[in-house]
Amino acid sequence: QRIGVVAESSTGETRVAATPSHVRHLRRLGYEVVVESGAGEAAGFADDAYTEQGARVGEAWAADIVLKINPPTPDEIGRLRDGAILAALIAPGQSPDLLRRLAERPITVLAMDAVPRISRAQSMDVLSSMANIAGYRAVIEAAHVFGRFFTGQVTAAGKVPPAKVLVAGAGVAGLAAIGTAGSLGAEVRATDPRPEVADQVRSLGGEFLAVEVAQESGADGYARATSEEYDRLAAEMYHRQAAEVDIVITTALIPGRPAPRLIRAEDVAVMRPGSVIVDMAAAQGGNVEGTVPGKTVITGNGVTIIGYTDLPARLPAQASQLFGTNLVNLLKLLTPQRDGRALIDFDDPVQRSVTVVRDGEQTWPPPPVQVS
Ligand code: NAD
Repeated sequence: QRIGVVAESSTGETRVAATPSHVRHLRRLGYEVVVESGAGEAAGFADDAYTEQGARVGEAWAADIVLKINPPTPDEIGRLRDGAILAALIAPGQSPDLLRRLAERPITVLAMDAVPRISRAQSMDVLSSMANIAGYRAVIEAAHVFGRFFTGQVTAAGKVPPAKVLVAGAGVAGLAAIGTAGSLGAEVRATDPRPEVADQVRSLGGEFLAVEVAQESGADGYARATSEEYDRLAAEMYHRQAAEVDIVITTALIPGRPAPRLIRAEDVAVMRPGSVIVDMAAAQGGNVEGTVPGKTVITGNGVTIIGYTDLPARLPAQASQLFGTNLVNLLKLLTPQRDGRALIDFDDPVQRSVTVVRDGEQTWPPPPVQVS
């Protein structure tokens, strides 16, 4: 079979679903690879780099298997051939219209953002690989705007204290932010309603700020909506922290719901001029009052609120490398014989979970997967 790597059409997208080094891996699995001309350009991968690894530059949408990052547009869905397999981000839970459109075609669709979060599927988990990049980049964006060092210094001209960074939400993105801010020398503290992450925060050198109300995460390891009592105590804690810290990075998400509002205008109002907030939940409604998705806002008291929704695309080469590796790992699973023929095994919970449309029939949502 032939695999097509197509160019991304969304504005501002710089990533590509496979890099030249992935072409080599895909060919080893027995596939031919066709790359749309210019597909890798914004990530720094020229057409020539793909052909050197044995790909052809040509009509990638006509391939048997199409690899893509963002969900396809209606026009792009029309370009897929009958019987094709499409692997891309789909956000099936939030996109009933897209699912309906996809299921109108005799195609099979693999949602990369529906990989179950079990150990065995970690190598295919694009949500984690992109969240890790985004967490790193959020700190870099904050450091770029912040007019001071992150690290403390003792110089002939005087002593500089380290910057204080608060990270709200210590999942994959939050932990990456804690690690990055700490390695720049900042003093980091973090909070999360899931008490089980406290040790991970500490192991990265951060202080864990516990809100002393029992909050259980669900069997899937994700957070549940917090109680009123929790929210009240957390609000007091955020207000105290806001007056103290220089940088706030918020990453809080609850699956299937809008992002929880953690930082209110009265918290932003007590932050010092020159402080920076990066709201990583901007695309899901924002954790911070005053965030504008995709934009930077400077408040009346001189606080910068960054609401970028394209953090992974701000490190395009790295993001493409990790996304492509996640895709190659999925294709390895679908091609156990390495014979260049993808077969989807519905008895395998990973393959079942990612398949949201099979031969023109919607197969989302999948049955729940046991967490390991
Ligand atoms: P996420 O992006 O859904 O949420 C980000 C963080 O926000 C989470 O840590 C969550 O607890 C936190 N949060 C929710 N409500 C909050 C609130 N009111 N205040 C502060 N924080 C709040 O989560 P994620 O980063 O994708 O992953 C969550 C967890 O899932 C991970 O920590 C890990 O345990 C697990 N996981 C497992 C695998 C695997 O086994 N393959 C892969 C990825 C993640």
